[in-house]
Amino acid sequence: MTPPAIVWFRHDLRLADNPALHAAVQAGGEVVPLFVLDDSAPGQWRAGGAARWWLHGALAALQGDLAGLGLQLHLRRGDAGEEVARLVRETGATAVFWNRRYEPWAIAQDKAVKSALDRQGVVARSCNGTLGREPWEVVRKTGEPYKVFTPFWRAWNELGPLSKPLPAPAALGPVVRPDPAALAALELLPTKPDWSGGLREAWQPGEAAAADALHGFVDERIADYPTQRDFPDRPGVSRLSPRLRHGELSPRQIWHAAMRHGGAGAEGFVRQLVWREFAYHLLYHFPELPDAPLRTEFKDFPWTDEPRLLAAWQRGRTGYPIVDAGMRELWHTGYMHNRVRMLVASFLTKDLLVPWQRGAAWFWDTLCDADLANNTLGWQWVAGCGPDAAPYFRIFNPVTQGHKFDPDGTYVRRWVPELGKLPGAHIHAPSALPADTLRAAGVRLGVTYPEPIIDHGTARERALAAYASVR
Ligand code: FAD
Repeated sequence: MTPPAIVWFRHDLRLADNPALHAAVQAGGEVVPLFVLDDSAPGQWRAGGAARWWLHGALAALQGDLAGLGLQLHLRRGDAGEEVARLVRETGATAVFWNRRYEPWAIAQDKAVKSALDRQGVVARSCNGTLGREPWEVVRKTGEPYKVFTPFWRAWNELGPLSKPLPAPAALGPVVRPDPAALAALELLPTKPDWSGGLREAWQPGEAAAADALHGFVDERIADYPTQRDFPDRPGVSRLSPRLRHGELSPRQIWHAAMRHGGAGAEGFVRQLVWREFAYHLLYHFPELPDAPLRTEFKDFPWTDEPRLLAAWQRGRTGYPIVDAGMRELWHTGYMHNRVRMLVASFLTKDLLVPWQRGAAWFWDTLCDADLANNTLGWQWVAGCGPDAAPYFRIFNPVTQGHKFDPDGTYVRRWVPELGKLPGAHIHAPSALPADTLRAAGVRLGVTYPEPIIDHGTARERALAAYASVR
């Protein structure tokens, strides 16, 4: 009889197009699924609150889906290497399969686990289940990694179509009963206080919901993606990022769904998906990026790093409505629209001169899609210190950006209800409005809504001077 094989699930919480699961099934023996909650990532990169909330839902769904195939998901907590070894001993498995991760600490852990299994004569095989192409597959002719997106995008496309997604395995035995107590023991959900009500309203984690979200987006909205994607109050974007982060969908499934639809909308969308590939390419080749700027002159940048300013930004109380709307959307739903991510990140790093690492850490804790590669690239890009970054001197004006991307103020009205009665686009600059307009809308600046925490014009000059000092 063929001995059992373990599938070690990590950022790939799905049955369909899961190469590690597929390989374990192909091995022909009993399949033993495992997930380990391992909090040994370096301090600040331990999974944050919102990602843990999502993880709970995704694991509940996976547990149920595996149970339908006749498989019990083993849920463990602790050092992943030790838990893998323990399950090998308990089951007599002779092979362990997993899909690769790319965070520097995860790469180090995978290498250690593989060596330990090799020493015991257990087969350890890793697969690609997280990216369309591996970070080392797309390299310049010189063999060096890319640092600029457009040539990366060209080279990525020149490698041809992605292979077809794998089907989910057929049932492997009689249906089993999932074990909710084992999942509860991971203590992933917030309790005192339970701040997750807004997340529950906004999302349904799990592979089935992810497939619905993908097909809904492709069938109904992908064609308009290029013209609608920059407006945070419209359903222009896919909101698939938490699904990708937790692996409820693979990039290959998304790429094929988009290509089946075709057209300029699909191409524009796939281009964004390839930004994610670029982010992983950079993280893999420059593993110090989550902590250090790629452009070394920024190491001496004169940040101010005032806790009072950071706290006002985190709470959505800066006095700039589009910034505050974004920060409150983030706190309430565990998500923020990309355009607004750029605005709030620019405001923090340029208007307030708070180091980008503080913003990245807050996003890490509050985003359901918190992803080391994408978050690092996003922050370094906006702060102007990263690969292919926006030039530092391009400093977003939060009022004119509000007018441009939330022209009638619908997004701000939704998230900053105390300004809700201000007319039309006037909502973006309450401090510029006459007293009687404010009074008529029930707004008392400094009382019901903050005065601007800083004058944008002055802040801009200060930021440019700070940049000139390190250039
Ligand atoms: P869509 O517009 O529908 O795009 C589809 C997919 O393409 C996304 O799900 C995402 O996987 C990828 N994508 C889109 N834009 C980008 C981008 N600029 N960079 C990399 N991949 C992209 N994304 C995360 O997944 N996790 C993060 O922690 C994260 N932090 C960010 C921090 C900052 C400061 C900024 C500016 C951006 C950050 N992003 C992050 C990138 C981007 O904002 C989100 O991926 C996007 O808003 C997710 O929404 P969506 O799925 O509707 O995107």
